[in-house]
Amino acid sequence: MLKGKVAIITGGTRGIGLETVKLFKKNNAEVILFGSKKETVDKTLAELKKEKIEVEGYYPNLNNPTDIEKTVKNIVKKYKKIDILVNNAGISANKKIDNTSYEEFEKIIDVNVKAIFNMIKCVVPYMKKTGGVILNTSSMVSIYGQPSGVGYPASKFAVNGLTKSLARELGPLNIRVNAVAPGIINTDMVSTLPKQIIDPLIETIPLGRIGQPIDVANAFLFLASSLASYITGAILSVDGAARS
Ligand code: NAD
Repeated sequence: MLKGKVAIITGGTRGIGLETVKLFKKNNAEVILFGSKKETVDKTLAELKKEKIEVEGYYPNLNNPTDIEKTVKNIVKKYKKIDILVNNAGISANKKIDNTSYEEFEKIIDVNVKAIFNMIKCVVPYMKKTGGVILNTSSMVSIYGQPSGVGYPASKFAVNGLTKSLARELGPLNIRVNAVAPGIINTDMVSTLPKQIIDPLIETIPLGRIGQPIDVANAFLFLASSLASYITGAILSVDGAARS
């Protein structure tokens, strides 16, 4: 479904991002994964190699535009273009406001919002020439909020705002911008939550299970492909109709 396409996937070292790397490769894209540090990127590339999956990996500081520009320039030098950007890197929060420091709130906005802006701003000049697809990772909390960890839903509401606005701004350049809003997905981000929190959550999910990373990767694949050529500005829920 992605033959001949060049895709950058941030947060590609584990969880949803890693599953998306594998699925995009399986669908014949050239994939470049970004991670937060050298050790995790090297480890992921080595594990992928064992599965006979060859991808490149980088670890630019997503809050440093110069660092991103340098990395993206190198990628374009090699691959000539960027067709798809998946902004998937993210962190969560679950403390009540009394226990949340100013720095913790800023950090979540830095990683979940500003980094996405930085990546998009850097990639658009290249995508302008060929058209392209930008996919952002939102969350079901961008619709319902959550009862603690306010920085996380605040950041994901912002992701939806970026998505809907840039879809309108970049549509005339043939750049589609969409987001996927996962529910509860079985990754490190969720496995750290205690059973007494997870079990009651599962009971509220009509499909009766938490999601798997492949459920989200499949949505990214669809939105990245030509099957979604008339879809832009969408926030696609992948949550089993969870309403937490
Ligand atoms: P994860 O913790 O397994 O992976 C997060 C990825 O982001 C890792 O590759 C990590 O290296 C990268 N990352 C984190 N901080 C970074 C930073 N400062 N700079 C660069 N990279 C950084 O998480 P996941 O569950 O796979 O989540 C992926 C995305 O999905 C996130 O945006 C998250 O908010 C969103 N999401 C997850 C769930 C869920 O239930 N797991 C639900 C809704 C949305």
